Amino acid sequence: MKVKTLLFLIIFQTSYIMSSDNFGIAVHGGAGVMKNLSEEQKQKIENKISDTLIKAYTILEKGGSSIDAVEFAVAELEDSPLFNAGKGSVYNSNGVQEMDASIMSGKDRMAGAVASIQRIKNPIKLARKVAESTEHVMLVGEGAEIFAKNIGETIVDQDYFYSEKNLKRLKKAKAKKNAGIQSATQDKIGTVGAVALDINGNISAATSTGGMTNKMPGRVGDSPIIGSGTWAQNGVCGVSSTGHGEYFIKYQVAREVCARIEYLDKNISTSSKEILNELKNIDAEGGLIAIDSEANIAMPFNTDGMIRGSITSKSILNVAIY
Ligand code: ASP
Repeated sequence: MKVKTLLFLIIFQTSYIMSSDNFGIAVHGGAGVMKNLSEEQKQKIENKISDTLIKAYTILEKGGSSIDAVEFAVAELEDSPLFNAGKGSVYNSNGVQEMDASIMSGKDRMAGAVASIQRIKNPIKLARKVAESTEHVMLVGEGAEIFAKNIGETIVDQDYFYSEKNLKRLKKAKAKKNAGIQSATQDKIGTVGAVALDINGNISAATSTGGMTNKMPGRVGDSPIIGSGTWAQNGVCGVSSTGHGEYFIKYQVAREVCARIEYLDKNISTSSKEILNELKNIDAEGGLIAIDSEANIAMPFNTDGMIRGSITSKSILNVAIY
């Protein structure tokens, strides 16, 4: 056999062995309250989630990487005013939007994050640039924005994030606080995220948020914290969380889901449900999406609803809110 033919066979066989029939993606649009959604709003949200999933799935179907698929999906949702991330970010107590995001590749533990940024159109893209173009994992505030400017990332005026609906939410939250009434956590949260497995077995996860309505200026939630809001580990799982960030940080939720699979041999459904139940017991509200190395998906939540959807090589498009 000629050397060239032999080489071709080796390369072909290696890529055949390494690629898998199983791949897929899940996204969420937050576990915030959706009790009063009109039929029209519901439809808009479901359409945006379906559309995003189909486009991101096409990336994977064509052999694209999971990191590209999750970045694409999260950026799409950041550009929509329907979700609390990017354009739709909620206001802090000073009436300013401060955004957090993170992304992780389970292939090599590449991880990047940004926090408390105010003028970046797509925080998730900047988070990936932090991972790929700096020696750091997280950049915050002004430093992150200077970095964005230096690398040519899209910067927008704060007007871009203006939202009548979110201002109303802020007013309501302030009024309740002043009257000594505790707002339900569900009224203040929302986030977007994606997890994906590609044909090469690489798992990635990404999360982006405007945080919680009426949060203190400078407050950073779980979304940009690797291990809390986002985790990806090849051969085990990928997770993106949404919910009351302080609890998700203290309980290291995203990593915990994967740790129970890795060390206790639990499956993804049991592991993620268990954690959400444990959080409910301490009044910590939220949800998560998770994917394992065989494209099994879990999307549990302990709130009234969580905007979510998935599509894999072995399951059809599925989108739900309640
Ligand atoms: N986890 C986010 C935060 O605490 C909010 C959310 O997911 O809804 O900032």
